Amino acid sequence: MDFNNKTAVVTGGSRGIGREVCIELAEKGANVVLCYSGNAAAAEDTVKLCEEKGAKAICVKCNVADGDEVKALMSKAVEEFGRIDILVNNAGITRDKLLMTMSEEDFSAVIDTNLKGAFLCMKHASRIMLKQRYGRIVSLSSVVGIHGNAGQLNYAASKAGVIGMTKSLAKELSSRNITVNAVAPGFVATDMTAAMTEDAKKLAMAQIPMGVLGEPKDIANAILFLASDEAKYITGQVLAVDGGMSM
Ligand code: NDP
Repeated sequence: MDFNNKTAVVTGGSRGIGREVCIELAEKGANVVLCYSGNAAAAEDTVKLCEEKGAKAICVKCNVADGDEVKALMSKAVEEFGRIDILVNNAGITRDKLLMTMSEEDFSAVIDTNLKGAFLCMKHASRIMLKQRYGRIVSLSSVVGIHGNAGQLNYAASKAGVIGMTKSLAKELSSRNITVNAVAPGFVATDMTAAMTEDAKKLAMAQIPMGVLGEPKDIANAILFLASDEAKYITGQVLAVDGGMSM
C-alpha cells in the first residue's frame, strides 16, 4: 500500500488506535492531519512519531461534536496540504452505565462525540472529496454496535449508528469514486479498555475465541487497507477485527 501524495485526516489521533493509524499512514507516505480534544502533549507526540517516519504531520485541537470546529479542521487540512484523500473517523468516548443510572447527559455526550462527530466530519470532508472526485472514508464502529452490550446502551447506539451512516453515505457517494466503510473492533488494548473494571475485562476476554486482546496495530492494518487504492471496489462494508468475537 502506497499513500505518497495522499493527505489523511484522523480524528482522535493523539492516543490509542488513532495514533497507530497516523503512524502507519505516515510510514507509508501520507501527510497526516490529526485532531484531539484536550490532550495536546499526546497529540504533539503523535506528530513527532509521524515526522520520524519522514512524513509531514500537524495536529489541531478540535471537538468533533462541534460543527464550526470540524469545518475549521478540514479547512486547515486543505490550507496545509491542498486536499483531503482519507478521513478516519476514530475519535470516540465511553460513559458506561446501566440504563437505570445512565443520565441524559451520559447518553448525549457519547452520541454527540461518536455519532454526530462522525457525521460532521463526513459532511465537511466529503465536500472536498466530491470536488476531487476521490475519497476514502473509514469510520470506527465496534462489535458492541453489532451485538449490543449491557452497560453500554449509549455506546452501542452510537456505534450501530455509525454502521447505518456508513451504508447510507456509501450509497450516496459511490458513483463519485468515494468509498465509505467501517471497521468494528472487538476489545483492543488502549486507554479506553484500561478503564474497564476487572470483572468487565474478564467477561470480555471470555468472549474472544482467540483469547487475547487486539493491539492498535491490528485495527490500523484493517483501516489502512480500506483507505488504500487496493480497496477501490469495496464500499458500504463493516469489517470486524475482533479475534473472532462476532462469529
Ligand atoms: P482512546 O480512549 O485511547 O482515544 C480516544 C481518542 O479520541 C483520543 O485521541 C481523544 O483525544 C479523542 N477524542 C475523544 N473525544 C473527542 C472529541 N470530542 N473530539 C475530538 N477527539 C476526541 O480510544 P481508542 O483508541 O480505544 O478508540 C478509538 C476508536 O475505536 C473509538 O471510536 C472507539 O469507540 C473505537 N473502538 C475501540 C475499542 C477498544 O477496545 N479500544 C473497541 C471498539 C471500538 P484526547 O487524547 O485529546 O482526549
